[in-house]
Amino acid sequence: MREADRDAVDRVREQRLWQRLADMARIGAIPGNGVNRAAFSAEDIAARKLLISWARARGFTVAIDVIGNLFIRRAGTDPHAAPVMTGSHMDSQPRGGRFDGIYGVLAGLEALEAMEEAGIKTRRPVELVAWSNEEGGRFPPCTMGSAVFTTAMPLAELLEVKDDAGIALKDALAQTLAAMPAAEKRELNAPAAAYIEAHIEQGPLLEQEGKTIGVVTGIQGLRWFNVEFFGETAHAGTTPLAARQDALREAIAAIGALHELTRDASDTLRFTIGRLLVRPNSPNSVPSHVMFSVDVRHPDTGTIARMGEAIEPTVRKAATRCSVRVTPTLRDDPCAFDPSVVDCVERAAQALKLAHRRMPSGASHDAMYMARVCPTGMIFVPCERGISHNEAENARPEDLAAGARVLTAALLELAAPVR
Ligand SMILES: [Zn+2]
Repeated sequence: MREADRDAVDRVREQRLWQRLADMARIGAIPGNGVNRAAFSAEDIAARKLLISWARARGFTVAIDVIGNLFIRRAGTDPHAAPVMTGSHMDSQPRGGRFDGIYGVLAGLEALEAMEEAGIKTRRPVELVAWSNEEGGRFPPCTMGSAVFTTAMPLAELLEVKDDAGIALKDALAQTLAAMPAAEKRELNAPAAAYIEAHIEQGPLLEQEGKTIGVVTGIQGLRWFNVEFFGETAHAGTTPLAARQDALREAIAAIGALHELTRDASDTLRFTIGRLLVRPNSPNSVPSHVMFSVDVRHPDTGTIARMGEAIEPTVRKAATRCSVRVTPTLRDDPCAFDPSVVDCVERAAQALKLAHRRMPSGASHDAMYMARVCPTGMIFVPCERGISHNEAENARPEDLAAGARVLTAALLELAAPVR
C-alpha cells in the first residue's frame, strides 16, 4: 500500500463511526436496542437529513435520483471520470437492528472523511450511495433502489404499490423527495467504475473462525417453490389405512426425500421448508390438502440449477395416491463478483494484516444489481452470533472500524490516487 493511502486508512476513526451508528440508531429506535426505519417513512427522512448534514459539513456534494437513492460525492481530479461507488441502505426491518445496512453507509462516509482529512487526491470521484428501500418490508419488492437505478425494474410499474395502511409508494416517495429539495438531480444508470458494499455478515462464520474480514466472492442463487399434495379427507376412526388418500403422509415422505436430496457434506447448500399448511387441520380427519414451501440456495450456478430441476421429480416419486402440484415462485441465479474487485478487497485486508477469508453472501444485497453494471465486491464484518433482522443485532466497534479501513484502502486503489 502506498504511504499516502496508508495515511488515509489511518484516519478512519473507530469512535466517530461508532458514535454515528449510535446517532442513527436513535432514529426509529424500538425497545431491545432495535430500529424500525421503514422506507420513505418520517424516520427514513430524518436519517437522510442527518447523513446529508454530515456530508455537507465536509463539503461533499449531495444528489438524489427519482427513486430517492442519495449520492454523496467527493470530487476527483478528472471531472469526466465515472465514480468509484460504495454504500448500502438506511431502511430497516420492522424489528431490525442497528447495523444492517446503515453500517455500509456510515463506513462509506468514514472512508470519504478519512480521504478528505489525509488530503489525498483521486482521479475518479468517490461516491457514497444510500439505496432506497432495500428491505422491501413496507413496499415490496426488496432491493428496490438499486434495481431501479440499474434499470432492472421500471419505476413506473412500482408507483402504485401500497403499504399496509393503503399509502401508495408514489406518495411516500414524493414526500421523501420534497423533504430534500437542495439535492442535485441524478439520472438513473449513471456510469460507475466499480462498487464495493460493506455489510455485517448476518451469519456466524466470521465470528466462529475468529476472522475480522469476509472477502465476499458473490451472492448465492436461490430457488423457491410451493409444493401441494391433494388427497381426500375421511374419518380418522373409520377409514382403513389402505383406503386413504392422506395428503400429509405423502407430503412427509416427500419432505424426507427432499432432505436426502439436499444433503451436502460440505454444508454449503441451504435448504429450508419454512411453511406447512394442512387442511382441514383437524385431529380426527385425514388431511385432504397440504402445502409446503421450499427454499434452496447455493453459490454455484450448476448446483443450484440441478437442485431446482430435481425438486419436482423427487416430490412426485413420493406421491403414490395423491396428486401433486409444484409451483416455482422465485428464481435468482448466483451472482459472481468481479475477480478484480474481490482481489482488491483481499489485498487491502492482507496489507492491513487483518484475519480474513473468502466467502459467498447467503443473503441478497444491493450489490447484486450493481454487479450487473460494473465490477462489484463486498466486505463483511462479523456480527454477534450471526444474529440479524432482529433487535439484538450487535457488532464490535473495532471490527466495524477494520471493515471501514479495508473499504478505504480498496476504494483508493480503484479510484486511482494522483501521485
Ligand atoms: Zn442489509
